[in-house]
Amino acid sequence: MPNNQHPSELRQDIVSKNWVVIASGRSKRPKSYEGLKAAVLEQPKEECPFCNFDKQQGVQVSLIHPLTSKDPYLDELKKEGAPLPTWKKEPYSIIDIQNKFPAFVKDVDFKEKLVGPYRVLPGYGYHEVIIPASHNKTYGQLPDERVKEIIDVFQSRYLALAKEPHIDYISIIHNHRPEAGASIAHPHSQLFAIPVIPKDIRNSLHGSRKYFEEHGKCPHCEIIEWERKEKTRVIFENENFIAVCPFTSVVAFEVRIYPKLHSPYFERIEENEKISLAKALKFSLNKIYQALNDPPFNFFIHTAPADEQNHDHYHWHIEILPKVTIWAGFELSTGIEISTVEPEQAAKLLRDAE
Ligand SMILES: [Zn+2]
Ligand SMILES: [Zn+2]
Repeated sequence: MPNNQHPSELRQDIVSKNWVVIASGRSKRPKSYEGLKAAVLEQPKEECPFCNFDKQQGVQVSLIHPLTSKDPYLDELKKEGAPLPTWKKEPYSIIDIQNKFPAFVKDVDFKEKLVGPYRVLPGYGYHEVIIPASHNKTYGQLPDERVKEIIDVFQSRYLALAKEPHIDYISIIHNHRPEAGASIAHPHSQLFAIPVIPKDIRNSLHGSRKYFEEHGKCPHCEIIEWERKEKTRVIFENENFIAVCPFTSVVAFEVRIYPKLHSPYFERIEENEKISLAKALKFSLNKIYQALNDPPFNFFIHTAPADEQNHDHYHWHIEILPKVTIWAGFELSTGIEISTVEPEQAAKLLRDAE
């Protein structure tokens, strides 16, 4: 079992009530940060851990979509060169595995303790990696149905892990390029199922409820209605989703994708909505890729907690945060970015990019 010698810990700050994770076991990951950029950019398929699972020991697969020999996608994958990603010698289009260096593990005694004035929980939970078979194509370049398949896996694993004991929040994230935290070049996403509700989510839940109490309306629905009228910050809209550069963008070229119909829970998304979401996500990522020359970025899903409480006033969404500036002292100390790009300008640039 990885990480048993150094189980991670969740520690709660007594002032901000924010949780931090101390996961020293993860420092044994293969590459140090300094070496990442060159290593990632030059990672050929033959040396890619995500293209060679059959050569590795101890890979634990949670979900896989096999590809039949007649599937036309197999030819697409073969065009990317050898090796063709396989599991037990069979090709697949997407695989979900347990992270080899997990920040959270399920085999720990789930007991809270006090250390000095601090609350401490074991690093209990799940940490999985969702890996589409394509080594070269970012999500913005994949066919629509492959992006939809990634969303299928997000949803399946979310639903499976939400049932596990003590899981209060499930975070689905994507890091692109080492500057955004990716330690492997092959495009992939990660899922963290954890026993606490992050402070950011708590703040948003509280803010949404307060706004609802004061205005009788979900603030996100209000934003969507206003953005659809204004149009200047909208980059994409279809039947079910809208993508905008928010009026209060936290970073330059931030994009948010909202379901147009109010819903707190990503995991309740339906089949036709997943196709719509795949189109919105692919469009947004592709525009960022084109307009900003394949920049590092993070995207994540913000959805209501999995704690079985009522969160009807929340409105789930996806946030895409390109890393085009470096956060310096003022940004880190205040959380306020001084952006030189107006969201209206950013939206126009993204819309016009080809
Ligand atoms: Zn690969
Ligand atoms: Zn809403």
